Amino acid sequence: MVKIATGLDIGIDVLSGTSDLNHTKSKKYLLFTPGPVNVKGNVRMAICKEDICHREQDFDVLLQSIEKKLLQLFEIKNTSNYRAVVITGSGTAANESMISSAVGNKNILIISNGEFGERLFHVSEVHNKNTFVLKFGWGKKIDLEKVETFIKKNKIDIIAMVHHETSSGLLNPIEEVGMLSKTYNILFIVDCVSSSGAEPIDLEKCNISFCSGSSSKAICSYPGLSFVVGKKQEFEKLKDIQAKTMYLSLYKFYHFTHTISQTPNTPAVPLFFALEQSLENILQEGVSNRHRDIFNRANILRMGMKKLGLKFLIDENDMCSVLTTVYVPEYIEVGILRQKLRKKNIIIYEGKGVFKDKVFQVGNIGELSLTEIQFFLDTLQEILQNFNKKLSN
Ligand SMILES: *Cc1c(COP(=O)(O)O)cnc(C)c1O
Repeated sequence: MVKIATGLDIGIDVLSGTSDLNHTKSKKYLLFTPGPVNVKGNVRMAICKEDICHREQDFDVLLQSIEKKLLQLFEIKNTSNYRAVVITGSGTAANESMISSAVGNKNILIISNGEFGERLFHVSEVHNKNTFVLKFGWGKKIDLEKVETFIKKNKIDIIAMVHHETSSGLLNPIEEVGMLSKTYNILFIVDCVSSSGAEPIDLEKCNISFCSGSSSKAICSYPGLSFVVGKKQEFEKLKDIQAKTMYLSLYKFYHFTHTISQTPNTPAVPLFFALEQSLENILQEGVSNRHRDIFNRANILRMGMKKLGLKFLIDENDMCSVLTTVYVPEYIEVGILRQKLRKKNIIIYEGKGVFKDKVFQVGNIGELSLTEIQFFLDTLQEILQNFNKKLSN
């Protein structure tokens, strides 16, 4: 172990010296993106743990540990009523697994107010004949009265929506929609891919039957794994619904998990090691401490960017703490801004869809030190000032 790990040890030593801005090979870029993220040294190490066989007890133990930690991450009180399954595949795999497995011939409503809501709709259209959609503008709040009217009128059996609509940064009201789902006896499915690990998600209070998450966003591990956490009773009921996909059958994942603590097909084992470590990191820190830490970083970035005269797409009170969506100032093009930042090893996102060329997005969920956040703000200031000067000359 010691012999093979020396190269890595060097990387990790430098990583923990957080003031170092001459990035090491592993930290070539500072990822101010909402995933992928810069991972912690021990997550990087975890990926090259032992070679194990996923049909042996080693893997059973690993999966059990991950499942237990996932239920802790969601701070579930009655853990015996909930289960979690892990899927090899990005967040969309978990979403597609839920949406293809839980609907049958019933009526599903997708509530959409952005890119990821639309994606849920497209996934549902592929699998479910009776797909309804209620669209609000991108970045616009969900009108709960409209939702209620719609579900009454169309006899909706299942609602699916996004918690944190990553395309705008808007945090959607899952508690309120959850109450509606309770009142009308509707199965409630939530895409929590970009909020899990960053925001409190109370499955019990919000009446959520299934929600999805991903390894590579606020959970702070590598991309490639996703998960579904849900009510045990609802997982059981899937047995009677004919599967619409073989590979992503949610019941099959559940069945394998609860009978033999394995996955139906070959799992990406090294990524499971990494996910376990990243969950352990969160639990060590404390779930709410982690949430607070992410929120604080977002605040530092937001205060810094406001000082530079930048304006945000949505009201700060409605934002998730994962990222900030910022209007591109008129004196610079977003592509050029990204390129200038990239030269300083900083990666940001640009807007998609209706937000293309209008906004950029700054994430704050990975291993980014306060020094690195300050470095980002200083670099951004320098770039913007240069362009602003040019414009006024
Ligand atoms: C990232 C993300 C997904 C999953 O996207 P992948 O391309 O599969 O990684 C789903 N929903 C939301 C809200 C997301 O932010």
